[in-house]
Order: sequence, then C-alpha cells, then structure tokens
Amino acid sequence: MEKEYFCPSCSGYLKITDCIILLGKNQKKEHGFIILHPEVGNYTSRRHPSFKLEPYEAIELFCPLCHASLASDFDDNLSHLILQEKGKNFDIYFSKILGEESTYLVNGGKVTATGQHSDRYTYFKMSDKFKQYLKK
Ligand SMILES: [Zn+2]
Repeated sequence: MEKEYFCPSCSGYLKITDCIILLGKNQKKEHGFIILHPEVGNYTSRRHPSFKLEPYEAIELFCPLCHASLASDFDDNLSHLILQEKGKNFDIYFSKILGEESTYLVNGGKVTATGQHSDRYTYFKMSDKFKQYLKK
C-alpha cells in the first residue's frame, strides 16, 4: 500500500521513501527542513539540530518545491497536504504546534481524527465550517 503525499498548490511529490520533506519556519523566522513520518498517527519528526524549536512552538510549514504556505484554509493551527492512498485522494490536516498530536483525514464529508489531542485544543480554535464536519 504505497502512500503519496502532495503539495495542495503545485501537486509536487513530498514523500521520498519513508520521509515527508517539508520546509519549516519557527517563531524567530529561522528556516529548516522538517522530516515527518508518512504513517498517519506517527508524530515522530526529524530536523537538523541547528533548527531550534521550542515545545509547543507554532511552526509555519511550506512546500519545499513551490514554497507555498501549507497553512489550511480552515484553521490557522492546521497544515494541509494531499494524501493519496489506493488511488484515492484525501485532504489531510495536522497541527503545526510542536507536540500537539492532532490529525484529520477528510474524504468528502467524512473526517477521521487521529492523535491524543485531536478532540481538544485545536478543535476549539477551528472555524465552524470545519467543526460541522466533525459533528456526529
Ligand atoms: Zn508546492
């Protein structure tokens, strides 16, 4: 089951072997590459030690190919990528706050939430448009 991750702006491939490669910017406006795990719900990330991030720091994420912001339209605290699995495309939203484990996989009107913080914190900062998706 090969997964692919795309940039929503340029549709460029962001996953190489088992790494999703993104460009990050911290609150001090320093840049660095951030490597994410392609498995949904795996929050391990890697970066060069010179790219310093504080716990719970908000990290702006950008596509390394077209440099477009990956911030979601729904919520300032969520980043947005396209996930392709078994020939289907999903919108995937995840928290840009370091240490906040919230991921939302959206397929049409259906949302699957993953992560220990997915039902709090980010949810309360979400727009009504996104909240209505999460209502059961
Ligand atoms: Zn791009």
